[in-house]
Amino acid sequence: METAIVAIGDTDTSESIDEKLSMAGDIIRRGGLVAFPTETVYGLGGDALNPASSRKIYAAKGRPSDNPLIIHIADMAALDYIVGEIPEKAAKLADAFWPGPLTMIFRKSAVVPDQTTGGLDTVAVRMPNHPLALLLIKKAGGYVAAPSANLSGKPSPTLAKYVVQDLDGRIDMILDADGAEIGLESTIVDLTGEIPLILRPGCITQKMLAGVVGETDMDVTIYDSDTAQAPRAPGMKYRHYAPQGELVIVEGEPQRVVSYINAQAAAQEASGMRTGVIGTQEHLAQYHASSVKNAGSRSDVHEAAKQLYTFLREFDDEEIDCMYAESFRDAQDEGFGQAVMNRLLKAAGHRVIHV
Ligand code: AMP
Ligand code: MG
Repeated sequence: METAIVAIGDTDTSESIDEKLSMAGDIIRRGGLVAFPTETVYGLGGDALNPASSRKIYAAKGRPSDNPLIIHIADMAALDYIVGEIPEKAAKLADAFWPGPLTMIFRKSAVVPDQTTGGLDTVAVRMPNHPLALLLIKKAGGYVAAPSANLSGKPSPTLAKYVVQDLDGRIDMILDADGAEIGLESTIVDLTGEIPLILRPGCITQKMLAGVVGETDMDVTIYDSDTAQAPRAPGMKYRHYAPQGELVIVEGEPQRVVSYINAQAAAQEASGMRTGVIGTQEHLAQYHASSVKNAGSRSDVHEAAKQLYTFLREFDDEEIDCMYAESFRDAQDEGFGQAVMNRLLKAAGHRVIHV
């Protein structure tokens, strides 16, 4: 299949943007697939109410078909149509955080095909905070199923070039425009029970949610790799974001972390391997490795979140064999650090060394 790569940038007028998004919307209405930017990561969009489109999404990504898709909407009226009922807490959260990086799980209505929800009787819904995404959703008919636009198992794409790398020739169109300022996937909250349950941490933190709806719970499987329990979000059980080399998270007093990483890297470089480090600004100059990535200041994890998936893809491009990352566990209380640590643990296959 020929994939049209359509750029939208500063030189576009509102007419040319409208024309490009109309084309993209038509493709989705006719059952095709279009990758597009959102404020979290790039999404791979198809008509959420068309079972054949959902099947195509799974095929293009190589995604297991029991891993349900998030339906993206552009207004609240659309929510009524696809969910059984809107619990009061969900209405409050939508009011506070939509459009934005929050996905909510509802009981689904009969119009949502099983193919879109991986056979579940619940449905995940998000209203993204990105002008092009919102316009595209409207032009596509109002209901766009969109998982991250990567091949299954690869890091979610934060740049159009990574969508091209993964999906060129497998989908109809890729919209190349600014986006993915957040860099990590949305927070997922299940609203089907009495107490909202966080299934995946993200930019909307537990504290922010609690500020609106009071008590919330967190799926235990998010941090506890030893639990026998299956994650409540089916997608969280898969090994994600794995770089080709081996990634290890190093925790402890900062100077010990630096010394440990440098000693390991020196030994590995001496035996012909290439090493990489994800470090924070405060310690960056002290690292010696083939590739050292700047995750920004420890006092603000937004930069680390925004860059993490890019770093993992760059390490692959640079053929790095062994990678080390500083831990963001102590930043967990800050809220968003939880999401960064959750993705890092997945990328590292939960390999953590305490020094
Ligand atoms: P992605 O769109 O690639 O970020 O993946 C969507 C995530 O949402 C996966 O982890 C899914 O398992 C999760 N998800 C989607 N629908 C549901 C649902 N109905 N119940 C629980 N988790 C869901
Ligand atoms: Mg994904």
